[in-house]
Amino acid sequence: MNILLATLGIAALLPHTPVQNQGKSQAPKRQIVIAHRGASGYLPEHTLQGVAMAYQMGVDFIEPDCVLSKDNIPVVVHDTHIDTISDVAKKFPDRKRKDGRYYAIDFTLAELKTLAVSERFDPATGKAVYPKRFPLGVPGFTIPTLAEEIELVQGLNKSTGKNIGIYPEVKYPEWHRTEGRDISKAVLEVLWKYGYKTKEDKCFLQCFDFAETKRIRTELGWQGRLIQLTTENADKESSTDYEKLLMPAGLAEVAKVADGIGPWINQLIEGKVDGKLKINDVAKNAKALGLQIHPYTFRFDAVQSYADSFDDLLRAAFVEVGVDGVFSDHPDKAVAFVKKLNRAAPKQQN
Ligand code: CA
Repeated sequence: MNILLATLGIAALLPHTPVQNQGKSQAPKRQIVIAHRGASGYLPEHTLQGVAMAYQMGVDFIEPDCVLSKDNIPVVVHDTHIDTISDVAKKFPDRKRKDGRYYAIDFTLAELKTLAVSERFDPATGKAVYPKRFPLGVPGFTIPTLAEEIELVQGLNKSTGKNIGIYPEVKYPEWHRTEGRDISKAVLEVLWKYGYKTKEDKCFLQCFDFAETKRIRTELGWQGRLIQLTTENADKESSTDYEKLLMPAGLAEVAKVADGIGPWINQLIEGKVDGKLKINDVAKNAKALGLQIHPYTFRFDAVQSYADSFDDLLRAAFVEVGVDGVFSDHPDKAVAFVKKLNRAAPKQQN
């Protein structure tokens, strides 16, 4: 047994390592790493600095979450509200809604651009959500538009000769509709403008709301790659019944419109029993339908209790479950793992 395999702790499991397209002319498919909100483990999420850093870390895709500004421009922000990642409460104290929150959609792009963006914090206490990450209060970070983020990635693609993709998420379409807006349409217009049109283009579009995923594919005519996200129903992310969607019949419906699923990793690995990971049938059933599997979120500083370490979590996902890619806040570490995995696997096969 070579040392590398032993180090990875995957040797015993290598027969399960995914080997796609065997016997066909195309190269085996390599697992992908998606920079979750940029290199968000190191720099404030969804900032252009974090995007550039993720790019340099060798990721395959960079994820912009999209919500709309007051003037209907897709901006890259994770939540509908912006008081957890910016100084909006200080700069615009009279612009909060009745619930005390400040919403991106109540501000024009020009106003959003005046905000200082920081690492995520709890507005009630002012304390960082991830205390060991980039410090709060460092100036120089702002909210980018989806177009600006694409221009940065495409600019780097030109100057480096690489072809790194984008993995935008349409956030809260139902909520946007109650505000009289069509977030999907606005995002698609930007994607089409920048040349993301077919499955050949390096872009995955993702959405939690299954009704909207279907609408994006059919009514709105998106012909590019599409991922159905899932979470626990208790999260109330959308009206979608995720428990039902992850059952075989639900996955079959997903496969009619989408290219893959983006589940919470705990929806594939349910814990550890007697020292053995409890892996359910979701991934197996999804694979049987030809769906790709890109779970979230792999965080070096917040590893699931059923894994011994970040690498152990990645090993469980890639080797035991057989996922095709991961969303990670620490993409450098995920990229390093995938490289090791792909170097290790062929040696065993020969
Ligand atoms: Ca997202």
